[in-house]
Amino acid sequence: MKKATFLICIILSTFSSCKQTVKSDNPFFREFDTPFEVPPFELIKPSHFMPAYLKGFEEQKKEIKAIITNPDPPSFDNTIKALEYSGQLLTKVSRVFGSLNSANTNDSLQAINREVAPLTSKHRDDISMNDSLFQRIKLVYENMGKLRLTDEEKKILDDTYKNFVRSGSALSPEDKKKVRKINQELSRLSVRFGENLLAETNGFKLIIDKKEDLTGLPEGIISQAANMAKSLKMDGKWIFTLQVPSMTPFLQYSDRRDLRKKLFTGYFMKGDNDNQNDNKAIIANIAKLRIEKAHILGYNSHADFIIERNMAKTPEKVFDFLGQVWAAALPVAKSEVTAQRYLINREGGKLKPEPWDWWYYTEKIKKEKFDLDDEVTRPYFKIDNVIDGMFYVANQLYGLVFTKRTDIPKYQPDVVTFEVTRNNKHVGILMIDNFPRPSKRGGAWCGAFRGQSRDIKGKMISPVVTMVTNSTPPTDDKPALLTLDEANTLFHEFGHALHQLLSNCTYPGVSGTSVPRDFVELPSQIMEHWVLEPEVLKVYAKHYQTGEIIPEAIVEKLEKAGKFNIGFLTVEYLAAALLDMEYHSLNEPVELDIREFENKVLDKYGLIPEIKPRYRSTYFNHIWNSGYAAGYYSYIWCEILDADAFQAFKETGNIFNKEVAGRFEEEILSKGGTKDPFDMYIAFRGKEPGIDALLENRGLK
Ligand SMILES: [Zn+2]
Repeated sequence: MKKATFLICIILSTFSSCKQTVKSDNPFFREFDTPFEVPPFELIKPSHFMPAYLKGFEEQKKEIKAIITNPDPPSFDNTIKALEYSGQLLTKVSRVFGSLNSANTNDSLQAINREVAPLTSKHRDDISMNDSLFQRIKLVYENMGKLRLTDEEKKILDDTYKNFVRSGSALSPEDKKKVRKINQELSRLSVRFGENLLAETNGFKLIIDKKEDLTGLPEGIISQAANMAKSLKMDGKWIFTLQVPSMTPFLQYSDRRDLRKKLFTGYFMKGDNDNQNDNKAIIANIAKLRIEKAHILGYNSHADFIIERNMAKTPEKVFDFLGQVWAAALPVAKSEVTAQRYLINREGGKLKPEPWDWWYYTEKIKKEKFDLDDEVTRPYFKIDNVIDGMFYVANQLYGLVFTKRTDIPKYQPDVVTFEVTRNNKHVGILMIDNFPRPSKRGGAWCGAFRGQSRDIKGKMISPVVTMVTNSTPPTDDKPALLTLDEANTLFHEFGHALHQLLSNCTYPGVSGTSVPRDFVELPSQIMEHWVLEPEVLKVYAKHYQTGEIIPEAIVEKLEKAGKFNIGFLTVEYLAAALLDMEYHSLNEPVELDIREFENKVLDKYGLIPEIKPRYRSTYFNHIWNSGYAAGYYSYIWCEILDADAFQAFKETGNIFNKEVAGRFEEEILSKGGTKDPFDMYIAFRGKEPGIDALLENRGLK
């Protein structure tokens, strides 16, 4: 299933009028003099960002001025292309800043982010609400039929015009002012949401000082907790955090129900503790401002505004689709509760299962039913081996070769860097950053320090891609041994990375992962299908001590257990997706009571009390701070596509079928956002997929 994965594609474009201090030692003001022009991280100081941003704003402002004062009549080249290639310094600095602020932040970066977010929003509005610029774009757009343009150019012209309209270009001066004010406020609020969430996640620790309180926990998990304590100078104790690799095993194995409750409550109350990090008022404000903005732009709700540009096109279609899956999944989740009750009864217990019991009893049932638990498979999923496995798949499918490089700058010692080549030709750089730390936000994502495109003269610019996860870290005596779920996450993010690495576009605005939200998970989720294929397991799933390949008996159990707990996984995900849709389908800017609203929504759908949504409102980073508003449904929407697309390989009897892989690369991975996603999919598959492939894939049929 799709976990806390998301993709960041932060391409900020911005401006300010503050005074600037341009220092000649600022690395952003020079070409990066490093292998493959990777950012020279060791030279970049926090003090370099602000001057680079300010100069970036100023440069782009000049470029825009040159476009609108051009005496020649508006053309594709002097308007659309010139706009596409403007703001290069800004893109350069904002990609580095955005990536670092997510994966390796500190007080200085957070302070810069607070300052730069509203400036960015203002700069973006200055461009998108510039009437002279809009009039030129409009003229080119209206003459599109008469121009000799490539398909990619047509698409970028269409996107540019529509994005300007959607940003408020066609509004009255008074309404433009209102939208600007809302954008400023929204950028400030989402920064605060993210900061509060990081503080809440780092602020809670379950500290255990008596060995008997560790009852039920496997040895590996205990030593991981001891390591955590040691790193916090609390030698001799054990610490569990709200990070998934620390929390989930505790919930699975700890026999201490009171402690499970304490830890999980710490998790699901994040941002809802009525303290200085509380996110309720912030969310209520964001939701309200989004509705106000949608109304000014002529939409009924924020969901209408967002989904119009997605594959789904309307919120009704999304609700209808989610409703169908919900109806199939809820009874399965209920039957899973019944199984838990049955087990509790048999053990002579009287308790009623609560949300902090789910993982514990599920683990027991899994053990009983399939004789399988995460601790049995971990030794076969050493992180380096899993990475080798995903590289093997990419090699078989696309002929890519990954070579470890130690001469390339990195932003943190944990980062491992690879050069990607094909037929001895450079394709791009891939950085992988796997372990949790307080400076990293939760979840997993893929981004890029530089996206693929061609420069204005047509020369190829190769991508520098980064994959970030929060996987189980190594301990003193063991390497990083992953759960199957974590192995899936690696393959997932690697799929996003391939989408960027194999992009073959001209214009930066449509390259790589610049596709609608409800299409972008196809390249990532399809990769998850290879994780458990026996042919692939044989290559990478080797015991970390003996090198023995994962025994067939375990593989069989894994396959059998594949659909286990699917009711829960589907329902907790859908509950979050529905919550997102309900917030963003509101059509009146009311003052929301967040707890009340959340309860009302979950009651309406009949969510059972044993399950909490995967994200409660106050820590739902995807929708308040990460571009997934009215878009969290995308993961399961894309599953229709990835389940069906993987069938295209299966049907040939060869999961590495080169012809199918070639078509997938040609029609989808290389195309970026240069075509309508629906057309891309049809070009690959020849037909439209239905919901059946998804239900079958999940065993919900
Ligand atoms: Zn993803």
